[in-house]
Amino acid sequence: MAKLLLVNARIATMRDGRCSMIENGGLVARDGVITSVGPMTMLNTARRASDVEVLDARGALVTPGLIDCHTHLVYAGNRAKEFEMRLNGSSYEDIARAGGGILSTVKATRAAGGDELRAQSQPRMDALMSEGVTTVEIKSGYGLDTKNELKCLRVAQSLASGSPVRVQTTLLGAHALPAEYKGRADAYVDLVCDEMIPAAAKQGLASAVDAFCEGIGFTPAQVRRVFEAARKHGLHVKLHADQLSDLGGAALAAEFEAVSADHLEHTREEGVKALALAGTTAVLLPVAFYFLRETRLPPIAALREHHVPIAIATDCNPGTAPCASILTAANMACTLFRLMPEEALAGITVYAARALGLSDCGTLEADKRADFVLWDLEDPAQLAWQVAGLKPREVVFEGKRRAAHK
Ligand SMILES: [Zn+2]
Repeated sequence: MAKLLLVNARIATMRDGRCSMIENGGLVARDGVITSVGPMTMLNTARRASDVEVLDARGALVTPGLIDCHTHLVYAGNRAKEFEMRLNGSSYEDIARAGGGILSTVKATRAAGGDELRAQSQPRMDALMSEGVTTVEIKSGYGLDTKNELKCLRVAQSLASGSPVRVQTTLLGAHALPAEYKGRADAYVDLVCDEMIPAAAKQGLASAVDAFCEGIGFTPAQVRRVFEAARKHGLHVKLHADQLSDLGGAALAAEFEAVSADHLEHTREEGVKALALAGTTAVLLPVAFYFLRETRLPPIAALREHHVPIAIATDCNPGTAPCASILTAANMACTLFRLMPEEALAGITVYAARALGLSDCGTLEADKRADFVLWDLEDPAQLAWQVAGLKPREVVFEGKRRAAHK
């Protein structure tokens, strides 16, 4: 049995969302799973067996592997032209007429073969991993027909093969209405429910289903149908809820016991209460808020008051959050949403795991995956304080060491 012994570490376990530190601590992992964590004096640090690898942290700060629980990082092309148009004062309609917007990404993504799509997406995955991310959620949503949605999910899964990172895939067929269904949104929702969801479930290509509930997306009634189909196939549900307006998305997500409700800028207190009752995690996406220069803040005080777990993610996507840095997202959650650094760190570890319905990662304690990161930092708050450019000393995936700075 492969055994890893971490010694001389300062461990932020993130248990219960807290940064409480174990100074002069250590950790034992066997076959990729943590068997014990604690002060060095309490651990069985016997090193006689030849199969024990000892990792001397030399006083490094150790956190759980970071988790990005909301990304759209599989896509082709870029939207820099549209960015320039917006800076020049073009409206959303102007941009759409000039062939921009989400449908331009759909066009580029449909045109790309699987290998090409993987090649374009890989650098974004690598950027996340270089910051200590060990689990990433990736959504489809730029295919918008069964063949291309499944292609995107396959590419997402392939980014994990030959790499130690864990990928959780989510089918987001109900992301936007493709051009060929213009004026026939209900018929498109039929396609999502009757073809895409069953195919993704049957082929093991997704563990969750997501939808964009918004005036420019899908109505609550359409999302309800998507969620019913997801439930029928045993998949988790998540929702892009109340980002640009309050359509009651949070309450709808809660009604279906969604693992997460994401964005939430326009969610009111009733919606927050519903999330609390359902045990749904709130995922905040400050990079999109920044990029769109939004002004309406998510209901942080109500989320805290009702003890809704708060996760933070990059939302990595070409239209509203071209960002593959989870630490930048954590920093922005503090600067823009006034989260405390400890909350931001919990948001990219323990509560990010919860937003994915995962119970085997996100904290450093017995029976969790031995996914952890060594940092040359004094204080865990530095992870949220620094705006950009922070890299770990080393990342350990399931008890296996892997040099950082790749
Ligand atoms: Zn998103």
